Amino acid sequence: MKPTLGPTVLFDRQSEKRPDKEYMEALISAESSLFFVLAGDKPVVDSNEDRTRTSIHWFTGPEVTELGLALGEAIFLGLDPADGAAKFAVATSEHYARGAPQARDALKNRVEIRTLAAQGAMPQSELAFVAQAASLGHWHENNRCCGRCGGSTNVKQGGWKRKCWACGYETFPRVDPVVIMVITDGDNIVLAHEDRFPDKMYSTLAGYVEPGDDIEHAVRRETKEEVGLDVGEVKLLGSQPWPFPHSLMLGCVGHAEHKELVIDAAEIEQAAWYSREEAQAMLEGKHADELWLPGPQSMAHQLVKAWLAKEA
Ligand SMILES: [Zn+2]
Repeated sequence: MKPTLGPTVLFDRQSEKRPDKEYMEALISAESSLFFVLAGDKPVVDSNEDRTRTSIHWFTGPEVTELGLALGEAIFLGLDPADGAAKFAVATSEHYARGAPQARDALKNRVEIRTLAAQGAMPQSELAFVAQAASLGHWHENNRCCGRCGGSTNVKQGGWKRKCWACGYETFPRVDPVVIMVITDGDNIVLAHEDRFPDKMYSTLAGYVEPGDDIEHAVRRETKEEVGLDVGEVKLLGSQPWPFPHSLMLGCVGHAEHKELVIDAAEIEQAAWYSREEAQAMLEGKHADELWLPGPQSMAHQLVKAWLAKEA
């Protein structure tokens, strides 16, 4: 399996140094440190003319200040193994990028993460940065107030913690695990269409891991709830971060113990068994009824492909 958006190298995030305020401030003001700007889910990028190559646009600290963005709230991503330089992300809103007079021009070349992943023009090592920053950006946006007392929270530890000024409650970035699974009887798989999907798009089943679940239980529980199938053996095939807003996709294969489907109409509009030939045609966009699957940047695509290649 080759999921995108996940890290390609072990990047030194220096988590043990984050609580050292002076060290973090020195990194933020170091001349060699570089910052990229993320407006909502859109990083600011540089592209060649035909857009076959896209890369993150890096700003210096003084340039970030000129854009009217707060360096003190920059998210520390880590030290780049290539040159040892500290890399940061600065999260802002789409509204600011579009409207602030000092930022409008400098931030205008921004592209949505899903589009970048689908285009395949940005190296995966950079996409991983963007996914990491987007996840953290969403978390910051939704945690400006304390969940315990309602007071304001402040950014700490290079963007890896928020602390309430009133009661001292500390909160840390969250990750929401999601199981996504190809359910098979050996020769066929279950694919489903939900209301919210584009017309004729089908995908594998998926659902959030709930408190008390392990991965295998979450696969069996969600499959039973959504399509009424009992699942025996479950195997984890791979994983990838999915920063919308901060999920971790856990790609699994589950073996069905029977074939009778009982569909939960509240979640699923339609679900059925599909043969290898049909799944292949859906992946390639050649299905007789024009049914299709999400693109190669998605875990669903990679799971179906792995099953077709008999890796699952
Ligand atoms: Zn509080």
